[in-house]
Amino acid sequence: MKTGFRHASLAILLMSYAVPILAQDLGPGFTKVKDGIYVYAAKEGNSTCSVVLTQEGPVIIDTCQTPPDSHRLMAGVKKLTDKPVRFVIDTEVHNDHTFGHFVFSPPAVVINHEGATEGMKKGYDPKRVETLSAQSPEMREAVKGYRMITPHLEYRNKMTINLGERTFELLYLKNVHSEADTAVWLPKERVLFAASAANVRSIINLRPFVTIPDILASYRLMKSLNPEIVVPGHGPVSTTKIFDEYEGFYSLLLQRVSDMAAQGKSLEQIKKELKMPEYSDWSGQDRLGVNIDVAYKSVKQN
Ligand SMILES: [Zn+2]
Repeated sequence: MKTGFRHASLAILLMSYAVPILAQDLGPGFTKVKDGIYVYAAKEGNSTCSVVLTQEGPVIIDTCQTPPDSHRLMAGVKKLTDKPVRFVIDTEVHNDHTFGHFVFSPPAVVINHEGATEGMKKGYDPKRVETLSAQSPEMREAVKGYRMITPHLEYRNKMTINLGERTFELLYLKNVHSEADTAVWLPKERVLFAASAANVRSIINLRPFVTIPDILASYRLMKSLNPEIVVPGHGPVSTTKIFDEYEGFYSLLLQRVSDMAAQGKSLEQIKKELKMPEYSDWSGQDRLGVNIDVAYKSVKQN
């Protein structure tokens, strides 16, 4: 009886001393966002990749900038749980978010919006493994076992996943960055994974099929969720202030392009003359030209 009581109190004592895993225990580049939610990026500007733990196993959101990063995320996941990865959710189709799927799947089931498989196949570079392997011995090791894994599930407009204690709402962001962009919203935790609709103080490489009105609509949609934490596709964990900053950038860009077009200037003239000095400290200044292309198209459509 007495021994049993001692064992019980010892167990309680040990439990109270059990130290939770801190982000730094997972290695450099990990940030804890909330209990059981960690974001990883090896260095600034890299794509973010994240793990959300659930009682039913972890969910991965994007599979990192490079294959060594994917392996480091996986090593972090193994420190957090011994349960197999259930799902990989893609926020876009590009390689710097999807190339590492082979590290997690199988067993993970990969999900993105309709059009993702087609987009990934279009962007497929058969020489990429060879090119990466030539970079370093670490890279050569990390790409071993690579095969392209396109989404097993494609949803349309909206999808809800209830896994253990968590709910994941997948929301389609139309025409904002790639052929299929998904924002992932955790309503109970008020954490939003915002894809690459907005990054952090960086001019984004806009593809010809995106439109600025659609980008602005995506910010309104994501702000209406009232998230507490916003995890961008690239850049440090932030808040909805990144949407406000990009709204400011695109609105001013549209205004300037519209004014110059109204003065009869050609796209070439506008690209030569238009400056955005208010945003000169943002990275990606060489992408201003493609942003003007997209803004000009939006202006001409109106
Ligand atoms: Zn991208």
